[in-house]
Amino acid sequence: MRNNYLFIGWWILLGFLLIGNLSFAQKRHLSRFPRAKNIILMIGDGMGTAHVFAAYTAQKGQLHMMTFPVTGFSLTQSASHYITDSGAGGTALATGQRTYNGAISVDVNKQPLTTILEIAKKNGLATGIVVSCAVTHATPATFYAHQSSRAQDEDIAADLLKTQPDVVIGGGYKFFSQRKDQRNLVEELKQKGYQVVDSTADLSSFQKGKLIALVAQGHPAEVSGGRGNFLSKGVQTALNVLSQNKKGFFLMVEGSQIDWAGHENDLQYLVQETIDFDKAVGVALDFARKDGKTLVIVTADHETGGLAITNGDIAQGNIEAKFNTKDHTAVMVPVFAYGPGAEAFTGVQLNTDIFHKMLRAYRFNLP
Ligand code: MG
Ligand code: ZN
Repeated sequence: MRNNYLFIGWWILLGFLLIGNLSFAQKRHLSRFPRAKNIILMIGDGMGTAHVFAAYTAQKGQLHMMTFPVTGFSLTQSASHYITDSGAGGTALATGQRTYNGAISVDVNKQPLTTILEIAKKNGLATGIVVSCAVTHATPATFYAHQSSRAQDEDIAADLLKTQPDVVIGGGYKFFSQRKDQRNLVEELKQKGYQVVDSTADLSSFQKGKLIALVAQGHPAEVSGGRGNFLSKGVQTALNVLSQNKKGFFLMVEGSQIDWAGHENDLQYLVQETIDFDKAVGVALDFARKDGKTLVIVTADHETGGLAITNGDIAQGNIEAKFNTKDHTAVMVPVFAYGPGAEAFTGVQLNTDIFHKMLRAYRFNLP
């Protein structure tokens, strides 16, 4: 009998030791990753590995994102669908929670979910969004708005005045100026201290303060349709302004039209938009290299087009490819990371993990 008690006692002791050691190992795991002062999250909408490789081939073997030291994959499934849309895909990255397709940072019960941009702002960081679509479109919206449907552009625009990121650059002027509720959000933004600009020419002159640049009524043009280097210039402007905050910043950048090229099964459009996004990645990478305290993550919300590269020549920059669908696909998408905390993004991860890893890199707690 006494021996039995002794036996059980030993097992209990061993259990405590194991649990103690485990938590110690986890703590050590956490502190192994250095803290990031700034995070630049860059989303190529619909950008699968084939899109990346198509751009790499067209550029004759040169692409900024392929020089990143840490690479991984992200699983893109949503709470409602095997194949996500950009609403649920953006929500996963922005909030760390999977939700239904079409949601804008609300959960499956349509309750608001706090976003990484909102957490950064609450912690005193500067925040920004730079995209090549209307700023009310699904991907950017998931970082500052909370709506049950991505179709509610005017409600999403109104949410931007609640969250008030410091720098917002994209299109979508009409959702602020010609509204069913008769509110003039452009005037309201000015009253809140924003400089509101409606052309790309004003961008480079902007040095500090709060900026909203809505350079098109709806979406900005394609890169070949006159948009030029708007995205790269926007990222540079945002970095100039946001980096003045001593506590740090969070910046979300989207190559929005890679997805649309996939939907249209237009290879040339796809390659041009992916190269344009990569140029913006180059601007971010350049900043991060000089700064040393900036974590840059490049990923996608899902793949679009089921792109398959069927022939090509890297030396010539030629590429042949086939699309398998006009819609999104289920495959995992690439993750590229650079800077303090980058190591955490290696391996196969859930899209929601990216949010938690960013939070950990900042050393912020869940709200
Ligand atoms: Mg998008
Ligand atoms: Zn799409």
